[in-house]
Formats: sequence, structure tokens, C-alpha cells
Amino acid sequence: MKCTISAGHTRVSRGAVGLIDEWEEACRVRDEVVRLTGAHRVVDDVTTTANDNLVYVVNAHNRTTRAYDVSIHFNASSVTTTRPIGVEVLYYSDQALARKMSAAISEAGGLIDRGAKQRQELYFLRHTTRPAILIEVCFVNSKEDVMRYRQNFAAICRAIARVLAPMPALTEKAYALYQNEALRRRLVTAGSEAGAFLPVWQTRTLTYEQFCELATLAYFHPRP
Ligand SMILES: [Zn+2]
Repeated sequence: MKCTISAGHTRVSRGAVGLIDEWEEACRVRDEVVRLTGAHRVVDDVTTTANDNLVYVVNAHNRTTRAYDVSIHFNASSVTTTRPIGVEVLYYSDQALARKMSAAISEAGGLIDRGAKQRQELYFLRHTTRPAILIEVCFVNSKEDVMRYRQNFAAICRAIARVLAPMPALTEKAYALYQNEALRRRLVTAGSEAGAFLPVWQTRTLTYEQFCELATLAYFHPRP
């Protein structure tokens, strides 16, 4: 089942601003994860206060049919720092999902894993009616966090997508293969020789990497 995803704050009622802008980056992450998973996307272009935004977003989430509710945020510490701080995932009751998400983002982004934190008083977590998590991707005023986030944006979004939309067993296996360079080359060569990848592969207009990217995209965008 799909998830429903929103970004924290609004253009008017801004979130944290440091080396990057929380609201802008949260929207980028939300949109990329929606692109990868086909999740429901909640956008608030309407409200002007933090309270109205929360009510609007939660109502929009609760109108959808979904497995999980996900809110994307970025964290802030009191001062700008060069040291890395990391990712954390807040949850109402689904600790396992929050822990898995934090670890996945940490691995993909090279960010310190601050783990799962229960925050039952937060409006979004409290009032959404499906298991909900609030992802604090990294700290907007940690130079190291921001650098790693920027470098690994695509990988971080893919990691979030994989946790929200786990692959079937066979595809997990294919993904492991995709990550193994030697196995991948052998498979693509054998497949090409056998004619399995005609016509696109035999034109040789794609590199191995592009071919594998294409296969991954095909997974995330299956034809109806
Ligand atoms: Zn926030």
C-alpha cells in the first residue's frame, strides 16, 4: 500500500534556516520520494501560520488511504558547527519503522545515526491516524551534515523509498546483484549474449551503469 508524505512548514511559516533552508529541502526530499514510490503527496500552499499548517496537513493525510504517514523535516542546533550531528526519526508508536528509517538514511547519506525517538506530543504524530514517522534528515547548521546531505541526496531519497516500499524478495535479490559490480557485469554480458536484453543493450549506446539505472527505474516505475 502507498504512503502519504508531506514536508514540514510552509513557504510563509518557515522552518529552520541555516546553511540550507529546511522547508525548501524538505519539499525536495518529499517530491523525490513521491517520484520513486508513487506515494500520496500533501502540499500546503494555503495556510499562513504554524498551527493552521499542522491542522491542514494532518487533515490531508487522514483523507488518504495509506500504510504510513511520513513528514519530512530538517533539524537545527543552536549554533552553526563544523562537526557532524546526524539523522533522527521521531515516532508515535512504530519504533521499528523509525529505527529502520534512521539506519537506512544514515547508511545512504553517511550521516550519524541518532536513531528513533518517541515524541507522542507532536501534533503530526499524534493526530495522523496511520503509523506515523517524522524524519529529521540532518541538521541545517552542521557544515558536515549539509555537505553529506548534498552529496548523497539521491541515495538518501532512494533509501527512504526502499524502507517505505519494500521490494519483493526477488527484487531484493536483484538489488543485491545490482550493487555487486563483478556479478552485474557477468549478468549483463551473459544476458546480452543470450539476446535477453535486445534491443536496447545490443545497440551498445548504454553503459553498464546506465543499463542498471534503467532497470532500477523500471522497478520504481512499473508499467500499469
Ligand atoms: Zn521542522
